[in-house]
Amino acid sequence: MRYTNPWPDGALTVRFKDFLRWRIDRWRSPRAPDPDPASLPRATPQYFVPRAGADLVTITWVGHSTFLIQIGGLNVLTDPMWSAHASPIPGVGPKRLVDAAVRFQDLPQIDVVLQSHDHYDHLDDRTVCRLEATNPGARWIVPRGLQPFLKHRGVLEVSELEWWQEITIDGVTLGCTPAQHFSGRTPWGRNRTLWCGWSLAAPGRRLFFAGDTGFHPDFAKIAERFGPFDVALLPIGAYDPRWFMRPVHMDPEEAVQAARDLGSPCFVPMHWGTFLLTDEPLAEPPERARAAWRAAGLPDDRFWQLAFGETRTLGNGAHP
Ligand code: ZN
Ligand code: ZN
Repeated sequence: MRYTNPWPDGALTVRFKDFLRWRIDRWRSPRAPDPDPASLPRATPQYFVPRAGADLVTITWVGHSTFLIQIGGLNVLTDPMWSAHASPIPGVGPKRLVDAAVRFQDLPQIDVVLQSHDHYDHLDDRTVCRLEATNPGARWIVPRGLQPFLKHRGVLEVSELEWWQEITIDGVTLGCTPAQHFSGRTPWGRNRTLWCGWSLAAPGRRLFFAGDTGFHPDFAKIAERFGPFDVALLPIGAYDPRWFMRPVHMDPEEAVQAARDLGSPCFVPMHWGTFLLTDEPLAEPPERARAAWRAAGLPDDRFWQLAFGETRTLGNGAHP
């Protein structure tokens, strides 16, 4: 079984010869020096322990695509990644530039883990094992095909969903949404498991977490089916060079367009500043995303660029 993207742009796969061309280009023209990652803003997390009230939503950015989301009285993690390298071999591969902004031992009890796909910067062996050891009751909700990976690592509670399917856990409904991406942890394991985004809905509040995705035509359909959303958590990094990355990663301007297609009043950027995976300068993604947000005439205070570790709380009012 191999999964595919249903849209014309997504039919392009990441080919090995293109990968080589990219690496050679990079070797010929090395990247400009980046700012010191220590200069990126950080904040002290303000989530509730052991849990937030059912009428509150908190969103805490741990780094990259990892968030602690408190919604409907549940503690939810997205794409949990606490290791120093995004790679199959400890100590090798893309290195974490900013420590996970919530210490693993400071996490509250986790009820639900949402997984978007199996790439190393999103699905980390060691983090899976640590979480299962400390939170054996957590429900892992994953796209089709990832259950064996987790079961093999001792995870007890795993539910696999396909695009557009939903599952409700203690009053919080999680919807599996389309994404334009790919999967695989080995050269021979390409696209054998599904990739997706997630909607999270509790009474009165709906969030969207996009996972990794290129720009595709169905963001409005996702909002129609699972929205309207209060907040969209969208990836803005890993986009250069465009000739290679465009099918699988949005650039910041496309991410703003996605937020508009979704009709989401608030935008939380993610998937930047944590691992250097591609060619764009380290601090460029949020600058470009904010500029695109402003250029679209959208209010500055709804562009929620979180510092590492920052928590945003949505009360029970009409607006975030
Ligand atoms: Zn990915
Ligand atoms: Zn990624």
